Amino acid sequence: MTTDNENTLDTRIMVSIEHNDIEKKLRESEERLRESERQFRIIFEQAAVGMAHVSIDGRWLLVNQKLCAILGYTREELLELTFQDITYPDDLETDLEQVNRLLKDELQTYTMEKRYFRKDGPLVWAILTVSLVRDNMGRPQYFISIIEDISERKRAEAEVAEQAQQLEAVFGSMADAVLVYDCDGNIVFASAAAQEIFPLSVQPTTPVQPGQKHPFLYVLWDEQGRPLLSERSPVQRILSGEVLKGSNALDVVFRTADAEPKYLSMSGSPMRNTSGEIIGGVLIARDVTERHHLERRTQKALEGMLAMAEALVKLPDSSGDIDTVGCSLAKLTSSMLGCQHVSLHVVEQEAEILRPVAVYGLTPKQERTWWEGQQQQTSSLSNSLTPELVERLRANEVIVLDMTQPPFNKQPDSYNIKAMLVAPMCIGERLVGLLMLDYGKVGHAYTEGEVALASAVAKLSALVIERQRLLSERAEAQGREVALRESNRRMEEFLGVASHELRTPLTTIKANTQLALRRLRSLSGKALVATEEVNEKVNATQDMLRRAERQISVLNRLVGDMIDISRIQSGKLQVHVRQQSANLVTIVQEIIQEQRKAVPGRSILLEMPAVEMIPILADPDRIGQVLTNYLSNALKYSDARESIKVQLKVEDTSARVAVSDKGPGISEEEQQRIWECFYQAPAIKVLSGSGVGLGLGLCISQTIIAHHHGQVGVQSKPGEGSTFWFTLPIAQPAGTTTEN
Ligand code: ADP
Repeated sequence: MTTDNENTLDTRIMVSIEHNDIEKKLRESEERLRESERQFRIIFEQAAVGMAHVSIDGRWLLVNQKLCAILGYTREELLELTFQDITYPDDLETDLEQVNRLLKDELQTYTMEKRYFRKDGPLVWAILTVSLVRDNMGRPQYFISIIEDISERKRAEAEVAEQAQQLEAVFGSMADAVLVYDCDGNIVFASAAAQEIFPLSVQPTTPVQPGQKHPFLYVLWDEQGRPLLSERSPVQRILSGEVLKGSNALDVVFRTADAEPKYLSMSGSPMRNTSGEIIGGVLIARDVTERHHLERRTQKALEGMLAMAEALVKLPDSSGDIDTVGCSLAKLTSSMLGCQHVSLHVVEQEAEILRPVAVYGLTPKQERTWWEGQQQQTSSLSNSLTPELVERLRANEVIVLDMTQPPFNKQPDSYNIKAMLVAPMCIGERLVGLLMLDYGKVGHAYTEGEVALASAVAKLSALVIERQRLLSERAEAQGREVALRESNRRMEEFLGVASHELRTPLTTIKANTQLALRRLRSLSGKALVATEEVNEKVNATQDMLRRAERQISVLNRLVGDMIDISRIQSGKLQVHVRQQSANLVTIVQEIIQEQRKAVPGRSILLEMPAVEMIPILADPDRIGQVLTNYLSNALKYSDARESIKVQLKVEDTSARVAVSDKGPGISEEEQQRIWECFYQAPAIKVLSGSGVGLGLGLCISQTIIAHHHGQVGVQSKPGEGSTFWFTLPIAQPAGTTTEN
């Protein structure tokens, strides 16, 4: 049993033990608290982020070293301030709003990005996380703020944003379309040009939105007009790792239902991450429609030039007259220059008449009207264009006429042409034609290139047309030559017949006539018993035979003249120039003798130098023939009572023979013509002797003398007689002139 005291003691002891326990626990707990506080302080102090306790009104209560470093203040300085003091004004309102919500217990914690002023000036970007500490009763005690410096990140972000902006500005200013795709082929960026080039890819008012599927996969065609299969589309190719650039760039045609097709040159490449995986691609589309058209035109121009050059060197084609060639030239020109109408005119040289050759680009009805219009008015260069324009064309200049201005707007123009280009077709200095073209109603501004091309086309056309003209001329000449050969052949035949079949019987008849005459003469000389009647008949027969002999001579001369002229015309006159010189004196004397005998009633005087010899290299018969011609004309065309004078002179290196008569004389105009073949002056009548002549004698004489390198001529005045002369080169020096 225990007593009370014992119990009390026990109790005391127990209490004491408990007290000790409690104290111990307390100490332990205090120790732990201190330890935790120490650790908190260590953590607080050593934290990599800024940490603070902030009073409800915003004063800094407790700040760590990191925060001081972030804000640039010492601990003591900071504890003098509130967070409001150093918050960038634009961010303060948001911050305070959040603080209020914490205080109202609407939030447990909040986080925001905000800016503080550092002590030394610059702003500091930070992520602020704030929570509120309340006491046991739930009353707000203080805020715990964690402040992380994100200035570096913000700077980097700003830099990236700026770069992106710059890039966008660059892409925006690029004429080429830039499209950026993700790895699934969705557009993540489209430059302004891209949105212009692919108008159908988006709704008209909305720009391309990131995430939109690439828009033109199914509307691209290759250059041959075949649709591009999706796996061959540029997007698919770059996304499968192909780089499209340089010669590997893709030429495609982008077609929409309501617009002209666009020709695009597409280049691009895949985009890869650091591990080399494809994360998307960039595609650049260049609109090369203009270039394509230009190339097409250049191509067509080249083809046209080639076609023209081919036409120029093609073998002669007799079927291609100038008009047909002109038509194909006009057609070629139209396709080369892409113009609506083309017309070609040649300038006919002497009168400078503009002759239409071809027109192209009109409807059949318009074309009929055009040709009718052209045929109704024969226009010359000078009445179609002003002298100044004609001069410029002659100087090989291409002219563009404003057809809406005077004087052209007054011309009847059923085609409403606005501007017409006129290119001169020149061969050397010679304007042989005009090439005209226009683009119809559309006001067309002719580029330098077009003008140069038109000029080149006109030059080629000139060559082609000129060549065709020469070919036609040659064909004509060839035709004439064939005809000439044929007529020469016939002439040969005729000459054969004439010289043999005509001359032979004539010679026989002449010989027989002379024989008959001789026999009759010998008969009449013999002392035969002849009645008067017989004698009369013999005499009459003798007369008839003498007349027949004269007629035969005339006939012989005429046949001779005809044969000679035929030979002259076929270039085959036979002139046998002797190797040794002939004596002109003898020739002249013999012929005069002959004529005196033939026409005994006429006086023929001879005037010549006192020489026996004037040597000439000649065919004496032919020279005699010339003098005979001159003499028989002088006798024929002058009165039978008038004498004829023959003059033989030596002049320097040539001899001159002249036959003068006192006949009617010849006008100057006739003097030009009497040397022509078959020409006879109508006013000049035969005054004596036989009148038969063919108008061939002078022509034959001229040819014979020309064969001897001499000259012929006539001095005459109507009413004062005529002197026909010829000269011949002397083979050796001769003596002086005296009267005979
Ligand atoms: P033909 O005398 O046979 O008619 P020609 O050729 O000899 O032919 O002469 C041509 C023409 O020249 C003659 O027809 C004549 O009109 C003219 N004529 C020639 N000689 C004379 C002359 N001496 N006097 C006047 N006219 C002449």
